[in-house]
Order: sequence, then structure tokens, then C-alpha cells
Amino acid sequence: MVDLPVSARAEAVVDLDAIRHNIEVLRAATAPGAAVMAVVKSDGYGHGAVAVGRAALEAGATWLGVCTLEEAMQLRHGGITAPVLCWLHLPDDDFTEAVAAGVDLSISSRRHLAGVLAGARRAGRPARLHLKADTGATRGGAQPTDWPDLLDDATKAVADGIAEVVAVWSHLANADVPDHPSNDLQKARLTTAWQAAKERGLSPIRHLANSAATLTRPDMHFDLVRPGIAVYGLDPLDRQPARSPLRPAMTLRCKVALVKRVPAGEGVSYGHEWTTPGETTLALLPIGYADGVPRRLGRDGRMQVLLGGVVRPVVGRVCMDQVMVDCGDDPVREGDAAVLFGSGDHGEPTAQDWADELGTIHYEIVTGLHWRRITRTVVGTGAPS
Ligand SMILES: *Cc1c(COP(=O)(O)O)cnc(C)c1O
Repeated sequence: MVDLPVSARAEAVVDLDAIRHNIEVLRAATAPGAAVMAVVKSDGYGHGAVAVGRAALEAGATWLGVCTLEEAMQLRHGGITAPVLCWLHLPDDDFTEAVAAGVDLSISSRRHLAGVLAGARRAGRPARLHLKADTGATRGGAQPTDWPDLLDDATKAVADGIAEVVAVWSHLANADVPDHPSNDLQKARLTTAWQAAKERGLSPIRHLANSAATLTRPDMHFDLVRPGIAVYGLDPLDRQPARSPLRPAMTLRCKVALVKRVPAGEGVSYGHEWTTPGETTLALLPIGYADGVPRRLGRDGRMQVLLGGVVRPVVGRVCMDQVMVDCGDDPVREGDAAVLFGSGDHGEPTAQDWADELGTIHYEIVTGLHWRRITRTVVGTGAPS
């Protein structure tokens, strides 16, 4: 994959075969009877929601999950007809179009439900509801004290024929620590909330697990699992790709813009934080913090790239639009491809390496790239040709 010619100044190559492989790994890990929802919020964690969604569905996922109404409609406009769950709404959102498009909607409060039902009336179609219980993540969802009132309203809406209660669901706070006691508590609270819905004659499914719980807690799979980060091949337990069954789908790379010999003793880039120790060849890469390469990554020589088959240091500061790479006496050429991060298969750094250097998580690395300037190239089975 990295052998393709670089088609742009800076390019993220997304491999749909890696997405398919990861869905297969997740399906194999999923308890019998549980379906897989591939989470494609934030434009598929930066990988492209429609292309990833299609590949995931072809590989055996049967649901897609998104955050915003716009993200849900992007999937529908992209021709995706599979069930889509959308879970974060604003007080003044208009749900008419989403209900008309058959998008499943998460509900966290009575007021929120009223807004969705108003949309259902306008759409002339029952809303598909996933009632969200706050079981301890304490973000969205209804608190246990508010749950009976929410169930009252939902049961009435079902009787009125303007809604269907598809699911009762929740989200884990500590799934990346599989034996954290809060996981068991959240599981028990979700089951209590689900049973209360059943006692009112509703027959919802139940779902709770994100990527980490999909891979480590089959007792929490219930009817549906909701992996996100693992779909993209980034390990929810922070294992490097070589130690993970998952395969990173994204490679970030760019073309060398300029190569030159520089004498000993010259300060390089803003602030002259690095000085050439001897005569050397420097390569200029046309990518910087305006593209989403964190400026902090350039401190103390922590950033490296794969260039001409060798892992080389980025020297001096990361600038808005460019970084400099020290190539010693090696013959690098303008137009050569430099890989900033990828699967690690060819020795290049990984998104996990960047996250470790920065004290953050790989989620922030891939969703933090700036698509105004980085071209996304989709490759693999099902890629547009
Ligand atoms: C983002 C998200 C997921 C997926 O989480 P990962 O850790 O990426 O697997 C699942 N469910 C909800 C509600 C989410 O917001």
C-alpha cells in the first residue's frame, strides 16, 4: 500500500481491506447472538464514514453508529440503508428528516423524547427509539430516578403509534480497564433499566459494549456491540499493531518537497532548537501543525518518519506547514514518499507511537488531522476507482 505513488502534497491512505479484516476480528470476538454496529462518527474517525460504513457492512456489521444528525444523513445520502443509530442531539434539533430517513435516535430525557415525537408526527412515520440509561458514565442518558417517567412517555408514544422502542442502552466509562468494578455496576444497572422497560410490555434489545468491551467482556455483549476505534485497527487496549489482532487502516504520508546539503553548525527551523552536527542532507516535508501534526511532537527529537526505507528523525520545530528531516549522507530525492505513521509493517511509526509520545490516545491522533489540506485516498476492495 505504501508503495503507491503519493498522489497529493499530504495524503492519508485508508485501506478498506484492513477495515474488513478488523470487522472479521470483532465478529469472531462477539458473543453468539450479538450483532455488530460499526461506529463511524466524526467521519469514520477521520477515515471517511461512507466508505468505511459500506466496507464494514459488507464484512458483516449490520448497524452503523454516529454522533450527529448530519452524520446520520450523510450515510443515508451516501446510499446506506442499514440501521443507523444517532446519539447526540441539541435542544432545538429538528428530527423530521432523520425520522423520515429511518434513522434510530437515542433518547436521554422526556423533553428530548417530546422533540423526537414532534418530528415523527411531521414525518408521518413512527420514530425508532433507543432509550439511553445513565448507568454510571454520567454524560448522556437518564438517571435512574428519571427512568420511570421516561418509560411512561415512551410507552404512551408506542400505544399512540408514533414510536417504537428498539433498544435500552448505555455507554461504559472504564471499558479499557476490563476488570474495573464500575463495569459490573454499569452492566447491572443497564439490566435493571431494561427489565423495567420489559415490565411495561416493551421488548427492546440491550447494548453496552464499545471496542474494548467487545474484545474483553463477552458477558456485556447482549444483543449488539458498538466498536469504533477497533474498526480502524487501533487497539483499544493500547497494544502496538504487532501485538494486536487488529490492522491499522490509515497511513499518513507526504512527498518530499525539497532536498539540500547543509554545512555543519547551522541552526534548523524556528528557534534553532537543533543545529547540524556536521554537513548533512535535509529533506523538507510539506506538512505541519495546520495539517494536524501536533507541534509538541517535534520537541526533543521525538518525531520520526520512514523515508527511503529508513526511519529518520524530524529535526527542529514542527512548523505550521513544514518539518525538516535529517537524512545524513543518504541519497533521498524530491518527490520521494515519507511515511509519518501507518501500520508499522515497514518500520514506520504508528498512531500509537504518536499517542504515547504525546501522552494522549490514538483516537485524538486520527480524528485530529485537518482535512482541508490532507487528501484522503481510499484503497482496497470496494474503493472508488
Ligand atoms: C464512540 C462511541 C462508541 C465507540 O467507542 P470506541 O471506544 O471507539 O470503540 C460506542 N458507543 C458510543 C455511545 C460512543 O460514543
